[in-house]
Amino acid sequence: MKTLKIVCTECNSVNSIKTEVENESILCSQCQAELDDPFPVEVSDESCTTHIIENDIPVLVDFYSTTCGSCMAMYDDYEDAALAFGLTVRFLKINADKYQKVAKEYGVSALPTIIAFKKGQEVNRISRQLSQVELSLWAEDLL
Ligand SMILES: [Zn+2]
Repeated sequence: MKTLKIVCTECNSVNSIKTEVENESILCSQCQAELDDPFPVEVSDESCTTHIIENDIPVLVDFYSTTCGSCMAMYDDYEDAALAFGLTVRFLKINADKYQKVAKEYGVSALPTIIAFKKGQEVNRISRQLSQVELSLWAEDLL
């Protein structure tokens, strides 16, 4: 039986889940939050790093600023794209004005920047506003 490590989006604890359990909400063993909630998650420097390193599923990180027009214009598209992926790709958002450590670590200088990670390794990045279709294709590419 295959198990996947999934970081809880509420309490950031690392769960080992069995992928065969279908059609049932998969709950965090620590806080009972739904691990397969597909909504993009707002993360801090600390939780962002945990998600990047510990998740067995690919992770997308949207580095944004509330004062950046393109970032805010992409907000709904990012959410809509995320909803189609469930527990196959984790969509994260990090406010790069508030949290600068991760942005600095990965050399993010332009906003928005979206970086894709697989098992802790950066596999792709782009620094411009993407449409929902582009975001979906990009995420699909990671599977
Ligand atoms: Zn939890």
